[in-house]
Amino acid sequence: MRFDVEVIGGGLAGVEAAFRLARMGFSVGLYEMRPERRSPAHRTHLLGELVCSNSLGADQETSPAGILKAELRRLGSPVMASADRNRVPAGRALAVDREGFARDLTDMVSSLPNVTVVRREVTSIPTGPCILATGPLTEGEMAEALRAVAGGEDGRFLYFYDAASPIVTIDSVDMSRAYRGSRYGQGEDYVNCPLTREEYLAFWEALVSARQAPRHQFEEPRFFEGCLPVEEIARRGVDTLRFGPMRPVGLPGPDGREPYAVVQLRQDDREGRLYNLVGFQTNLLWGEQERVFRMIPALRDAEFVRKGVMHRNLYVCAPKVLDGYLRPLGAHRRDLFLAGQITGVEGYLESAAMGLCAAMFMGCVLKGLELPHLPPETALGSLLRHLREARPEGFQPMNVNLGIFPPLEERIRDRRERCARYFRRALEALEAFLRENPHLDTAG
Ligand SMILES: Cc1cc2nc3c(=O)[nH]c(=O)nc-3n(C[C@H](O)[C@H](O)[C@H](O)COP(=O)(O)OP(=O)(O)OC[C@H]3O[C@@H](n4cnc5c(N)ncnc54)[C@H](O)[C@@H]3O)c2cc1C
Repeated sequence: MRFDVEVIGGGLAGVEAAFRLARMGFSVGLYEMRPERRSPAHRTHLLGELVCSNSLGADQETSPAGILKAELRRLGSPVMASADRNRVPAGRALAVDREGFARDLTDMVSSLPNVTVVRREVTSIPTGPCILATGPLTEGEMAEALRAVAGGEDGRFLYFYDAASPIVTIDSVDMSRAYRGSRYGQGEDYVNCPLTREEYLAFWEALVSARQAPRHQFEEPRFFEGCLPVEEIARRGVDTLRFGPMRPVGLPGPDGREPYAVVQLRQDDREGRLYNLVGFQTNLLWGEQERVFRMIPALRDAEFVRKGVMHRNLYVCAPKVLDGYLRPLGAHRRDLFLAGQITGVEGYLESAAMGLCAAMFMGCVLKGLELPHLPPETALGSLLRHLREARPEGFQPMNVNLGIFPPLEERIRDRRERCARYFRRALEALEAFLRENPHLDTAG
């Protein structure tokens, strides 16, 4: 074999894994099928392409996503390094210029002397040391190969739907009917498009009755609650949107009063020309999207440069399929790991984090070391613990959130203060872990 390890898939998890293994001194073949073959969501040949939102979520120590980011930064994650370098304004969130981010990541990984990027589709699982990071849109022969190691017949190999928001050009937004401002006066990053009660009700009617793109026959709809299509949220009740993506609370207009409902637009590129409709993932037919979303007064003449789309999303039922170290039990191999979203996590950074963990574990296998136990107080450890210990029945992909960490010993009522405590505990636990396992501290 040409390489010490083969990493299949140059997405967020694959890039993270390849980078770390290279840092540990291994030669890595990183296989990416694009541009020869594209998934329904990827648009470029770049490694680590973001397929939907350009936001990587909150970035403070008072949010669970902030804990994960801090750990990834501490561990020298290339995904975080690139995100920090390609940041665009987005209030308290870390949003990036999507092309700059992926280009930077591609350059970072391709320039490592012991990483070789091989541009071709891999159609079977290699027999040597391998990390499979082919993502939630894995299809064809590789999906069948995964099904075989995960066991598909009794429901252990699952799938569900996910949806992406449309993007408009800012020049086409009617700013006389919109205003800038982040929620609770935290800056000016978002463009807010308000609706009166009458406008909202007409919009809601149109949304719930609009035509949707057809589904494939073999696909059974299983929505992930954190990423529901906007029309699906609307269908749950006339006011559901006003408590979800159209929530007006903390967004007073120029007259100082909160509107009845509001659609927020978030910057999507470095130059600030493109904005996405926050939380408006959708499966409406493309023509229907323009018709319905133009009922939002500020978007009446909006130019939709990307329509919302909806895709199949593959992941395994981790508590049944994986061994606690991201290895599929059905493969009976010490040197085959899954990574990324297919392990049963949800989110860009959670996927990258599972690339990092798989690489750490692989490195230990190749060096003949015992596999390390990441402390559950850390975000990484709690995600792994969730994959190992969650209830298999109705298993759903999981974002990092306080509910998966072991509870604090004392009760702290204030959410921000509570989260800050989790944050400090996580970073202390990570430092202790790295002191005990100095060979895994490859950040420098
Ligand atoms: C449509 C959609 C929208 C999403 N939106 C968001 C969002 O807004 N925010 C969020 O946090 N998360 C989102 N997710 C979830 C998840 O965070 C992303 O899918 C993330 O990119 C997963 O990272 P990954 O590395 O596991 O997979 P990917 O980033 O998809 O990477 C997999 C890579 O493997 C390559 N590949 C696949 N098969 C093969 C093969 N056989 N041989 C060689 N290469 C192969 C693919 O081309 C791809 O580059 C979304 C998912 C989907 C499907």
